[in-house]
Amino acid sequence: MQEEQSNKNRICKKCLLRDMQEGEYFKNMYEYIAGLDPQIKTPDSLYEERLNLCKSCDKLVNGMCRVCGCFVEMRAAVAKNACPAVEKRW
Ligand code: SF4
Repeated sequence: MQEEQSNKNRICKKCLLRDMQEGEYFKNMYEYIAGLDPQIKTPDSLYEERLNLCKSCDKLVNGMCRVCGCFVEMRAAVAKNACPAVEKRW
């Protein structure tokens, strides 16, 4: 039981996100977003605006943009990034 618990908390520095358990996968993504340098991070209100545009876009599938293959929550979190569609939505 204790060993099982410690395995859940282990960090694998050589794993890709896709190799991790789904819970860890998303936890890592949100930790990455939360840890972004404020100098490059999208302000909260603009971030929500971007995500709302993605939510109404037919290219969004399971949180991923079908144009670029990115998780939109990560792409939108960096201020300099833009929607990759030919007709940009943000
Ligand atoms: S095409 Fe643009 S708006 Fe649509 S899901 Fe991708 S990033 Fe979001």
